[in-house]
Amino acid sequence: MTDTHAHIDLCEDPATVLERAAGLRALLTLGTDLEHSRASLELAEEYPNAYAGVGQHPTEAGSFDAAVAAALRELATHPRVRASGETGIDYYWDAASRADQLRVLDFQLELAEEFGLVLVFHVRSKQGSDAAERDLQAWLELNRPKRFVLHAFGGDMQLAAVALELGGYVSFAGNLTYKKNEHLRRAAAELPAERLLVETDSPFMPPVPKRGRKNEPAFVRYTLAALAEARGLEFAAAEKLTDENAQRLFQW
Ligand SMILES: [Zn+2]
Repeated sequence: MTDTHAHIDLCEDPATVLERAAGLRALLTLGTDLEHSRASLELAEEYPNAYAGVGQHPTEAGSFDAAVAAALRELATHPRVRASGETGIDYYWDAASRADQLRVLDFQLELAEEFGLVLVFHVRSKQGSDAAERDLQAWLELNRPKRFVLHAFGGDMQLAAVALELGGYVSFAGNLTYKKNEHLRRAAAELPAERLLVETDSPFMPPVPKRGRKNEPAFVRYTLAALAEARGLEFAAAEKLTDENAQRLFQW
């Protein structure tokens, strides 16, 4: 199994959750600012199946400056860093201006191209809006990144179509297991097999039956089981598929 998106340094006890995830083929722990990018890389240096992403989350875009950029660029030279991010567009929290978010997004693209990293996109609009999805879609169409993933896919099929067209991947998180999310299970059944990934977004978004507690990479099995069921696959076949997809994308 592979967890393509986690924030291990935000977990209460990183050592314990990483011990429980020792059987995972690989996991990617992502920074949300400079400090957390550093912490993510430290974990990736220590644990053989852990790799890091370095970046400034869209909600932190207001504090991005030249010094942060230089420090992230320095971290990105490390061989355990495989992703540029977490980056993207977030209008849900009103935490940073659109201009600041787009500026960071452009920087993360530069970083990805310079160091051969995978862009990891977060996208979230306010309830009832799709402004963030449309802005990310336009940005993708303009910039045409080569290697990227839509993390915690929320079901916007128009964005998925553009991502797939460009060669991008789509990653499903614990919300795939939620009863109300029949549309996500439909998407998981319909999207092309060779572009599917699974993740936890630990410590957030725990899957059924772990709701109400902190998520951790070992729980990726529940999302993987939901993906297998949606596609009519045996668990082992879904595991092989998503392990191979992640390996191809992140080159670990
Ligand atoms: Zn995340």
